[in-house]
Amino acid sequence: MGEFELIRRYFTRPTPKAVLGVGDDCALLQAPPGVQTAISSDMLVAGRHFFPDVAPRTLGHKALAVNLSDLAACGATPEAFTLALALPQADEAWLQAFSEGLLALADAYGCELIGGDTTQGPLTICITVFGEVPRGQALLRSGAQVGDDVFVSGTLGDARLALEARRGSVVVPEPALQAACQRMDLPTPRIELGQSLRGIAHAAADISDGLAGDLGHILQQSGVGATLHAPMLSRLMLVNRLGWQPPPQQQLQWVLSGGDDYELVFTAPPEARAVVQAAGLAYGVAITRIGQIDAEPGLRVLDAAGQPVEAQWKAFDHFAAP
Ligand code: ADP
Ligand code: MG
Repeated sequence: MGEFELIRRYFTRPTPKAVLGVGDDCALLQAPPGVQTAISSDMLVAGRHFFPDVAPRTLGHKALAVNLSDLAACGATPEAFTLALALPQADEAWLQAFSEGLLALADAYGCELIGGDTTQGPLTICITVFGEVPRGQALLRSGAQVGDDVFVSGTLGDARLALEARRGSVVVPEPALQAACQRMDLPTPRIELGQSLRGIAHAAADISDGLAGDLGHILQQSGVGATLHAPMLSRLMLVNRLGWQPPPQQQLQWVLSGGDDYELVFTAPPEARAVVQAAGLAYGVAITRIGQIDAEPGLRVLDAAGQPVEAQWKAFDHFAAP
């Protein structure tokens, strides 16, 4: 199977929303008037972002999910994506499963595959997503205000737990392990929640490198600080609900800096609490209020007695000095 047959067979589909899809030198999109295009890229490299032997179907899902998560953080509606793929070889069974996982998620959000590039090389997947947002309504990192509540969606820290379990550094009993692996392999982009937070949230980001790091970007870009409450953070792992409790300090660390969560962290004024909770209910995702924005720069975590908690919360950084 040659390059063009591969593209035709696995990555060419009808694209009713796009003006022009796969097959020409460029794809063409037409944004309606009054709409801005939200664009984001994410690259997944074998051995760096995923185990080389991961199931191709889940890899296809995750490669698009992590990109859709960025659109969710901006409150954008997915429209289209491109797929740049480096493959060690054209393995038909692998390509079939990978494209099925990828395109099932794409279909779920009406996000059309409109183009890409295909080359031989070490397994690498680079996706660029295009979304739409009404002019001036994108959720940004820079809008947090003193007095805002800080919220997170869903559960945090479980993907990191799954990674540690696969590395053999922690032993987790079965139902909890299954749930954690699901969180690592099949993240759910919070698209509907992001859209519903337009005009409500002051600032938002998706959590890819850990809560502390990604909230840190909001704080820095908004010129504010935040105080989080450890008792609220300690209820954020999914595995807790399945009867498994990591040591509390370990749990706090995974929740704050585990990474790979693909949930939203956002701030909103206290008047919006009921609307925020209603949005969570409407889209079936838990929303937890974890603290508030204050004027003093930096991030603080307090225990139930209001005392500062010593926690490790360095964000993941590919180029950090060891
Ligand atoms: P060019 O050399 O002009 O950049 P290519 O020969 O690389 O074009 O690709 C041919 C067509 O197939 C283009 O429309 C391109 O967008 C599309 N394409 C290539 N690889 C992929 C892929 N992995 N998924 C979807 N479309 C692809
Ligand atoms: Mg090309």
